[in-house]
Amino acid sequence: MIVYNFGSINIDHVYRVSHFVRPGETMTSDAYQQVLGGKGANQSIALARANCEVKHVGCIDESDVRLLKILEQSEVDTSLICQGNTPTGHAIIQVNNEAENAIVLFAGANHQLSVDHIENVLSKASANDWVLLQNETNHIELIVRRAKHYGLRVAFNPAPMAVDVVKPLVEHVDLLIVNEVEAMDLCGVESVDLAQQQLQSSYPDLKTILTLGRQGVRHIHQNNVIEVPAFKVDAIDTTAAGDTFIGFCLAGLQSSLTIEQVLRQACAASALCVTQVGASSAIPTLSQVRTFMEQMNHDT
Ligand code: ADP
Repeated sequence: MIVYNFGSINIDHVYRVSHFVRPGETMTSDAYQQVLGGKGANQSIALARANCEVKHVGCIDESDVRLLKILEQSEVDTSLICQGNTPTGHAIIQVNNEAENAIVLFAGANHQLSVDHIENVLSKASANDWVLLQNETNHIELIVRRAKHYGLRVAFNPAPMAVDVVKPLVEHVDLLIVNEVEAMDLCGVESVDLAQQQLQSSYPDLKTILTLGRQGVRHIHQNNVIEVPAFKVDAIDTTAAGDTFIGFCLAGLQSSLTIEQVLRQACAASALCVTQVGASSAIPTLSQVRTFMEQMNHDT
Protein backbone atom coordinates (compact mmCIF):
# COMPACT_ATOMS: atom_id res chain seq x y z
CA MET A 1 0.00 0.00 0.00
CA ILE A 2 1.29 3.41 -0.99
CA VAL A 3 -0.07 6.80 0.11
CA TYR A 4 -0.02 9.38 -2.69
CA ASN A 5 -0.04 12.68 -0.84
CA PHE A 6 -1.08 15.59 -3.09
CA GLY A 7 0.22 18.30 -0.81
CA SER A 8 1.88 21.64 -0.28
CA ILE A 9 5.59 22.18 0.18
CA ASN A 10 6.40 25.53 1.78
CA ILE A 11 9.42 27.44 2.93
CA ASP A 12 8.52 28.96 6.28
CA HIS A 13 10.36 32.21 7.02
CA VAL A 14 9.99 32.65 10.78
CA TYR A 15 10.78 36.08 12.29
CA ARG A 16 10.90 36.58 16.06
CA VAL A 17 9.48 40.09 16.79
CA SER A 18 8.61 42.17 19.85
CA HIS A 19 5.23 43.04 18.28
CA PHE A 20 3.56 42.46 14.90
CA VAL A 21 4.61 45.05 12.32
CA ARG A 22 2.07 47.90 12.06
CA PRO A 23 0.84 49.73 8.94
CA GLY A 24 3.66 51.97 7.66
CA GLU A 25 6.18 50.65 10.20
CA THR A 26 9.59 49.18 9.36
CA MET A 27 10.99 47.04 12.13
CA THR A 28 13.97 44.79 12.75
CA SER A 29 13.36 41.20 13.81
CA ASP A 30 15.28 39.68 16.73
CA ALA A 31 15.86 36.30 15.04
CA TYR A 32 15.18 34.56 11.74
CA GLN A 33 14.85 30.90 10.81
CA GLN A 34 13.99 29.21 7.53
CA VAL A 35 12.35 25.79 7.76
CA LEU A 36 10.44 23.33 5.60
CA GLY A 37 6.68 23.70 6.11
CA GLY A 38 3.27 23.16 4.56
CA LYS A 39 0.63 20.73 5.77
CA GLY A 40 1.38 18.48 2.81
CA ALA A 41 5.11 18.15 3.52
CA ASN A 42 4.50 17.70 7.26
CA GLN A 43 1.96 14.92 6.65
CA SER A 44 4.30 13.13 4.23
CA ILE A 45 7.07 13.25 6.82
CA ALA A 46 4.69 11.93 9.50
CA LEU A 47 3.60 9.06 7.22
CA ALA A 48 7.21 8.15 6.45
CA ARG A 49 8.28 8.33 10.12
CA ALA A 50 5.35 6.02 10.88
CA ASN A 51 6.98 3.53 8.46
CA CYS A 52 4.41 4.00 5.68
CA GLU A 53 5.41 4.17 2.01
CA VAL A 54 4.55 7.69 0.86
CA LYS A 55 4.96 9.38 -2.51
CA HIS A 56 4.58 13.14 -2.28
CA VAL A 57 2.91 14.78 -5.30
CA GLY A 58 3.58 18.51 -5.52
CA CYS A 59 5.53 21.34 -7.14
CA ILE A 60 8.46 23.54 -6.17
CA ASP A 61 10.68 26.12 -7.87
CA GLU A 62 13.68 24.43 -9.52
CA SER A 63 16.07 26.56 -7.42
CA ASP A 64 14.76 24.95 -4.19
CA VAL A 65 15.80 21.33 -4.76
CA ARG A 66 17.37 21.31 -1.27
CA LEU A 67 13.81 20.86 0.04
CA LEU A 68 13.65 17.47 -1.66
CA LYS A 69 16.74 16.36 0.27
CA ILE A 70 14.98 17.17 3.56
CA LEU A 71 11.97 15.08 2.55
CA GLU A 72 14.22 12.25 1.34
CA GLN A 73 16.11 12.21 4.65
CA SER A 74 12.78 11.18 6.21
CA GLU A 75 12.27 8.49 3.52
CA VAL A 76 9.57 10.42 1.61
CA ASP A 77 9.60 9.49 -2.12
CA THR A 78 10.05 12.78 -4.02
CA SER A 79 10.03 11.39 -7.58
CA LEU A 80 6.54 12.82 -8.25
CA ILE A 81 7.43 16.38 -7.21
CA CYS A 82 7.64 18.68 -10.26
CA GLN A 83 10.14 21.51 -10.57
CA GLY A 84 9.26 24.71 -12.47
CA ASN A 85 9.79 28.46 -12.53
CA THR A 86 7.03 29.55 -10.13
CA PRO A 87 8.29 30.52 -6.65
CA THR A 88 7.95 27.73 -4.10
CA GLY A 89 5.00 28.22 -1.73
CA HIS A 90 6.06 30.12 1.35
CA ALA A 91 4.89 31.63 4.60
CA ILE A 92 6.12 34.82 6.24
CA ILE A 93 5.58 34.14 9.93
CA GLN A 94 5.97 36.71 12.71
CA VAL A 95 6.15 35.22 16.22
CA ASN A 96 5.81 37.70 19.10
CA ASN A 97 6.90 37.42 22.75
CA GLU A 98 3.53 35.88 23.71
CA ALA A 99 4.20 33.07 21.18
CA GLU A 100 1.28 34.30 19.02
CA ASN A 101 1.85 34.35 15.28
CA ALA A 102 0.75 36.40 12.28
CA ILE A 103 1.18 34.69 8.92
CA VAL A 104 1.20 35.73 5.26
CA LEU A 105 0.90 32.68 3.00
CA PHE A 106 1.79 32.54 -0.70
CA ALA A 107 0.67 29.39 -2.52
CA GLY A 108 3.09 29.82 -5.45
CA ALA A 109 4.17 26.50 -6.96
CA ASN A 110 1.66 24.62 -4.76
CA HIS A 111 -0.97 25.81 -7.27
CA GLN A 112 0.96 24.60 -10.32
CA LEU A 113 -0.11 20.93 -10.25
CA SER A 114 -1.06 20.10 -13.83
CA VAL A 115 -4.04 18.04 -14.97
CA ASP A 116 -1.68 15.75 -16.92
CA HIS A 117 0.55 15.09 -13.91
CA ILE A 118 -2.45 14.31 -11.69
CA GLU A 119 -3.85 11.89 -14.27
CA ASN A 120 -0.48 10.28 -14.83
CA VAL A 121 0.02 9.64 -11.10
CA LEU A 122 -3.49 8.36 -10.40
CA SER A 123 -3.66 6.09 -13.44
CA LYS A 124 -0.57 4.21 -12.19
CA ALA A 125 -1.76 3.72 -8.60
CA SER A 126 -3.01 0.32 -7.38
CA ALA A 127 -6.45 -0.37 -6.01
CA ASN A 128 -5.24 -0.75 -2.40
CA ASP A 129 -3.39 2.60 -2.43
CA TRP A 130 -4.65 5.73 -0.71
CA VAL A 131 -4.80 9.31 -1.94
CA LEU A 132 -4.34 11.95 0.76
CA LEU A 133 -5.01 15.63 0.19
CA GLN A 134 -5.45 18.87 2.07
CA ASN A 135 -6.67 22.23 0.75
CA GLU A 136 -3.31 23.84 0.00
CA THR A 137 -2.91 22.73 -3.63
CA ASN A 138 -4.92 23.41 -6.78
CA HIS A 139 -7.29 20.99 -8.55
CA ILE A 140 -8.48 19.27 -5.37
CA GLU A 141 -11.92 18.57 -6.85
CA LEU A 142 -10.30 16.92 -9.88
CA ILE A 143 -7.93 14.86 -7.69
CA VAL A 144 -10.86 13.49 -5.64
CA ARG A 145 -12.97 12.78 -8.73
CA ARG A 146 -10.20 11.00 -10.66
CA ALA A 147 -9.00 9.08 -7.59
CA LYS A 148 -12.51 7.66 -7.15
CA HIS A 149 -12.67 6.93 -10.89
CA TYR A 150 -9.62 4.68 -10.44
CA GLY A 151 -11.15 3.03 -7.36
CA LEU A 152 -8.64 4.52 -4.90
CA ARG A 153 -9.45 5.33 -1.31
CA VAL A 154 -9.35 9.03 -0.45
CA ALA A 155 -8.43 10.64 2.88
CA PHE A 156 -9.21 14.36 3.01
CA ASN A 157 -7.95 16.89 5.53
CA PRO A 158 -9.79 20.03 4.33
CA ALA A 159 -7.41 22.60 5.80
CA PRO A 160 -7.43 25.52 5.47
CA MET A 161 -11.22 25.26 5.44
CA ALA A 162 -13.07 26.91 2.52
CA VAL A 163 -16.64 25.66 2.84
CA ASP A 164 -17.69 26.34 -0.76
CA VAL A 165 -14.74 24.31 -2.13
CA VAL A 166 -14.71 21.57 0.50
CA LYS A 167 -18.36 20.75 1.13
CA PRO A 168 -19.18 19.36 -2.33
CA LEU A 169 -16.23 16.93 -2.02
CA VAL A 170 -17.10 15.39 1.33
CA GLU A 171 -19.64 12.90 -0.04
CA HIS A 172 -16.95 11.45 -2.35
CA VAL A 173 -14.20 10.79 0.20
CA ASP A 174 -13.69 7.71 2.38
CA LEU A 175 -12.05 9.34 5.38
CA LEU A 176 -12.48 12.94 6.54
CA ILE A 177 -10.04 14.25 9.15
CA VAL A 178 -10.96 17.60 10.71
CA ASN A 179 -10.20 19.53 13.86
CA GLU A 180 -12.95 21.17 15.95
CA VAL A 181 -12.95 24.52 14.14
CA GLU A 182 -12.92 22.90 10.70
CA ALA A 183 -15.80 20.60 11.65
CA MET A 184 -17.93 23.48 12.94
CA ASP A 185 -17.11 25.71 9.94
CA LEU A 186 -17.87 22.89 7.50
CA CYS A 187 -21.26 22.25 9.06
CA GLY A 188 -22.06 25.91 9.83
CA VAL A 189 -22.77 25.16 13.50
CA GLU A 190 -21.38 26.41 16.80
CA SER A 191 -20.61 23.17 18.60
CA VAL A 192 -18.58 20.08 17.85
CA ASP A 193 -21.43 17.80 18.90
CA LEU A 194 -23.80 19.46 16.42
CA ALA A 195 -21.18 19.13 13.70
CA GLN A 196 -20.77 15.44 14.53
CA GLN A 197 -24.55 14.86 14.35
CA GLN A 198 -24.74 16.63 11.01
CA LEU A 199 -21.87 14.60 9.53
CA GLN A 200 -23.46 11.36 10.79
CA SER A 201 -26.85 12.13 9.29
CA SER A 202 -25.68 13.71 6.02
CA TYR A 203 -22.92 11.21 5.10
CA PRO A 204 -23.80 7.69 6.30
CA ASP A 205 -20.89 6.04 4.42
CA LEU A 206 -18.25 8.50 5.55
CA LYS A 207 -15.70 7.76 8.28
CA THR A 208 -14.76 10.93 10.12
CA ILE A 209 -11.93 11.52 12.52
CA LEU A 210 -12.50 14.56 14.67
CA THR A 211 -9.38 15.80 16.45
CA LEU A 212 -10.12 17.66 19.68
CA GLY A 213 -6.75 19.12 20.68
CA ARG A 214 -5.76 18.23 24.25
CA GLN A 215 -9.05 16.35 24.66
CA GLY A 216 -8.05 13.70 22.13
CA VAL A 217 -9.95 12.32 19.18
CA ARG A 218 -13.23 10.75 17.99
CA HIS A 219 -13.65 8.24 15.17
CA ILE A 220 -17.20 8.41 13.82
CA HIS A 221 -18.85 5.96 11.47
CA GLN A 222 -22.66 5.95 11.37
CA ASN A 223 -23.73 5.52 15.00
CA ASN A 224 -20.42 4.04 16.15
CA VAL A 225 -18.26 6.56 17.94
CA ILE A 226 -14.87 5.61 19.34
CA GLU A 227 -13.29 8.22 21.59
CA VAL A 228 -9.66 8.16 22.67
CA PRO A 229 -8.25 10.71 25.14
CA ALA A 230 -5.07 12.67 24.44
CA PHE A 231 -1.92 11.82 26.37
CA LYS A 232 -1.18 14.21 29.22
CA VAL A 233 2.02 16.05 28.36
CA ASP A 234 3.49 19.54 28.86
CA ALA A 235 2.66 21.07 25.51
CA ILE A 236 5.04 23.82 24.42
CA ASP A 237 4.28 24.16 20.68
CA THR A 238 1.22 22.61 19.01
CA THR A 239 2.40 23.33 15.43
CA ALA A 240 2.01 20.20 13.28
CA ALA A 241 0.06 18.28 15.96
CA GLY A 242 -2.74 17.62 13.48
CA ASP A 243 -0.31 16.74 10.68
CA THR A 244 1.50 14.26 12.91
CA PHE A 245 -1.82 12.72 13.94
CA ILE A 246 -2.96 12.33 10.32
CA GLY A 247 0.29 10.70 9.17
CA PHE A 248 0.37 8.18 12.03
CA CYS A 249 -3.36 7.52 11.76
CA LEU A 250 -3.34 6.77 8.04
CA ALA A 251 -0.21 4.65 8.42
CA GLY A 252 -1.78 2.77 11.34
CA LEU A 253 -4.97 2.02 9.41
CA GLN A 254 -2.87 -0.13 7.05
CA SER A 255 -1.52 -2.23 9.93
CA SER A 256 -3.12 -5.06 11.89
CA LEU A 257 -3.95 -2.70 14.77
CA THR A 258 -7.57 -2.11 15.83
CA ILE A 259 -9.06 1.36 15.30
CA GLU A 260 -8.63 2.12 19.02
CA GLN A 261 -4.98 1.11 18.88
CA VAL A 262 -4.43 3.20 15.73
CA LEU A 263 -6.00 6.26 17.35
CA ARG A 264 -4.04 5.75 20.55
CA GLN A 265 -0.76 5.43 18.67
CA ALA A 266 -1.53 8.55 16.59
CA CYS A 267 -2.44 10.46 19.79
CA ALA A 268 0.89 9.38 21.29
CA ALA A 269 2.76 10.61 18.20
CA SER A 270 1.03 14.00 18.28
CA ALA A 271 1.50 14.30 22.05
CA LEU A 272 5.25 13.84 21.50
CA CYS A 273 5.08 16.43 18.71
CA VAL A 274 3.60 19.10 21.00
CA THR A 275 6.42 18.66 23.53
CA GLN A 276 8.92 19.94 20.91
CA VAL A 277 9.31 23.35 19.28
CA GLY A 278 8.98 23.35 15.48
CA ALA A 279 6.94 21.65 12.79
CA SER A 280 8.46 18.80 10.76
CA SER A 281 11.44 18.58 13.13
CA ALA A 282 9.00 17.83 15.99
CA ILE A 283 7.42 14.80 14.28
CA PRO A 284 8.61 11.63 16.05
CA THR A 285 9.52 8.24 14.56
CA LEU A 286 7.45 5.11 15.15
CA SER A 287 10.08 3.68 17.48
CA GLN A 288 10.07 6.90 19.57
CA VAL A 289 6.27 6.67 19.75
CA ARG A 290 6.39 3.02 20.87
CA THR A 291 8.97 3.82 23.56
CA PHE A 292 6.80 6.71 24.79
CA MET A 293 3.69 4.50 24.93
CA GLU A 294 5.53 1.81 26.91
CA GLN A 295 6.76 4.49 29.29
CA MET A 296 3.22 5.89 29.74
CA ASN A 297 1.79 2.38 30.34
CA HIS A 298 4.52 1.74 32.85
CA ASP A 299 3.79 4.99 34.70
CA THR A 300 0.01 4.40 34.99
P1 ADP B 1 -4.77 20.71 14.67
O1 ADP B 1 -3.30 20.79 14.95
O2 ADP B 1 -5.10 20.33 13.25
O3 ADP B 1 -5.54 21.92 15.14
P2 ADP B 1 -5.61 19.30 17.09
O4 ADP B 1 -5.28 20.55 17.85
O5 ADP B 1 -6.97 18.75 17.26
O6 ADP B 1 -5.32 19.47 15.53
O7 ADP B 1 -4.51 18.20 17.53
C1 ADP B 1 -4.41 16.95 16.88
C2 ADP B 1 -4.10 15.88 17.92
O8 ADP B 1 -2.87 16.23 18.57
C3 ADP B 1 -5.13 15.75 19.01
O9 ADP B 1 -6.18 14.88 18.63
C4 ADP B 1 -4.29 15.21 20.17
O10 ADP B 1 -4.16 13.80 20.07
C5 ADP B 1 -2.94 15.84 19.93
N1 ADP B 1 -2.76 17.05 20.76
C6 ADP B 1 -3.00 18.33 20.39
N2 ADP B 1 -2.77 19.18 21.44
C7 ADP B 1 -2.36 18.41 22.48
C8 ADP B 1 -1.97 18.67 23.83
N3 ADP B 1 -1.97 19.92 24.35
N4 ADP B 1 -1.61 17.61 24.61
C9 ADP B 1 -1.61 16.34 24.13
N5 ADP B 1 -1.97 16.04 22.86
C10 ADP B 1 -2.35 17.04 22.04
